[in-house]
Amino acid sequence: MSKNSKRPALFIDRDGTINRDCPYCHEVSDLFIYEDAVTLIRDYAERGFLIIVVTNQSGVGRGLFTVQDLEKFNTAMKEKIRELGGRIDDIYYCPHLPESGCSCRKPATGMIMQAVSDHDIDLSRSVVAGDRDDIDGELARRLGIPFILVRH
Ligand SMILES: [Mg+2]
Ligand SMILES: [Zn+2]
Repeated sequence: MSKNSKRPALFIDRDGTINRDCPYCHEVSDLFIYEDAVTLIRDYAERGFLIIVVTNQSGVGRGLFTVQDLEKFNTAMKEKIRELGGRIDDIYYCPHLPESGCSCRKPATGMIMQAVSDHDIDLSRSVVAGDRDDIDGELARRLGIPFILVRH
């Protein structure tokens, strides 16, 4: 196997980046996808990047919605993005409370490290995209990779 078989990834935030943010979004009826996010996803997919969503979902830990609600919302988002000509390869979420001290809640790097292992990703050629410099941008800085600040 070639050393170059590893693929880079676009690690992309969900709420406020792909879909319009509503506090603790989980109802499929509230799903609104930004078309410029789909354009970004499509551009990277066409260049051979895996498209990996990484999202903090403390609403689970707070008891505001269930993992089933979250997965239903994620499935609807994936289907809608596909309809719009994009693609999502995988979704990672942190369900924990901010004060839990877990290793997955962004800007901690746990979800990225799990994805790198699961998908044999070339981290050095990967990028992070998101709407929050203090969360997604900080994640990128901790990883030493570029950050794309998404503004709608
Ligand atoms: Mg966000
Ligand atoms: Zn976590």
